[in-house]
Amino acid sequence: MTVAGHLKRVFFEKEALDYPLGKQIYQRLKDEGHQVQFLRSHNRVTGIPGNNPREAFFQGKSTLVVGVRKTLDFAPCKPSAHYQLPLVTGCEGICEYCYLNTQLGKKPYTRIYVNVEEILNQAALLISQRKPEITLFEAAATSDPVSVEPYSGSLARAIEFFAEQEYGRLRFVTKFTHVDSFLELDHRGHTRIRYSINSDRVIRAYEHRTPNLQQRLQALSRVIEAGYPSGVLIAPVILVPGWQRDYRELLHQLADYLVYSLEMDFAFEIISHRFTARARSNILEVFPQTDLPMDENTDRKYKYGQFGYGKYVYTDDLLEEMKAFFTEEIHRLFPQAVINYVI
Ligand code: SF4
Repeated sequence: MTVAGHLKRVFFEKEALDYPLGKQIYQRLKDEGHQVQFLRSHNRVTGIPGNNPREAFFQGKSTLVVGVRKTLDFAPCKPSAHYQLPLVTGCEGICEYCYLNTQLGKKPYTRIYVNVEEILNQAALLISQRKPEITLFEAAATSDPVSVEPYSGSLARAIEFFAEQEYGRLRFVTKFTHVDSFLELDHRGHTRIRYSINSDRVIRAYEHRTPNLQQRLQALSRVIEAGYPSGVLIAPVILVPGWQRDYRELLHQLADYLVYSLEMDFAFEIISHRFTARARSNILEVFPQTDLPMDENTDRKYKYGQFGYGKYVYTDDLLEEMKAFFTEEIHRLFPQAVINYVI
């Protein structure tokens, strides 16, 4: 699946054409028959239709913007990394629960930044400020950058850059399968590629326009064969009746696919479903028929947030049960794997 399949419109910032990558993407999109429109101003993407929240959302998800990253202040990215690496924002996937649904406005387009070398130079500066400590960068904090990798090539470039960094490491997580360009790279084990997976039931119900589980596991196997440190993110874990059976099945499928070896550098991250009141109202506007469980009075407790808004998480008892379940199953099926967290 590529972004082109869903692409309805493309906008370019004029300055993007000052960069080789901008020219290359422009030419490719033209060759594919896409109409390219130029934006008048960097921060205002006008021209995406949408008379109601649902239409605006879907039109945004079918829009690509190619531009220049102006601010090179990298946001922190706790707890999984020190900094975000901003190569792309947005994603063509349509996951009902996606965290980005409250971050990217009502028309969540995907934006590729073409000044990749400037972004990597900034990463080099941040690495040098912290050495000899290792500095970790997350490239998927506000996007699924693999979804547009066939156009941008920026992850492949970043993997090469980090291969040369003694004190810098890259990581990203994805549901998409465009990994071909990563496989031959001399990555030196400095990039960790994780796959976001879930039970078949959750994928089918809530993760629209994304590769299915089998496709993700095939891509994961390929990056493992290419020697990358790897892992899976199982999120969001949704605790509906039968969840133990569904997630046990998922872990078995993973074990069958991976031919897990004791030498593999493989890590698990497990995150339970949570939502804010704002996320829920956005989700209900765009997906009025959703059956994503978001009843704050059932199985949930309110957890106060750092910035004054809190979220609904599962009750302590349920979370304990979930932690015990995943810890036991993972240790049994993947004895040497690391569990980074179950939260
Ligand atoms: Fe969001 Fe990831 Fe789904 Fe894209 S694939 S919509 S980034 S959850």
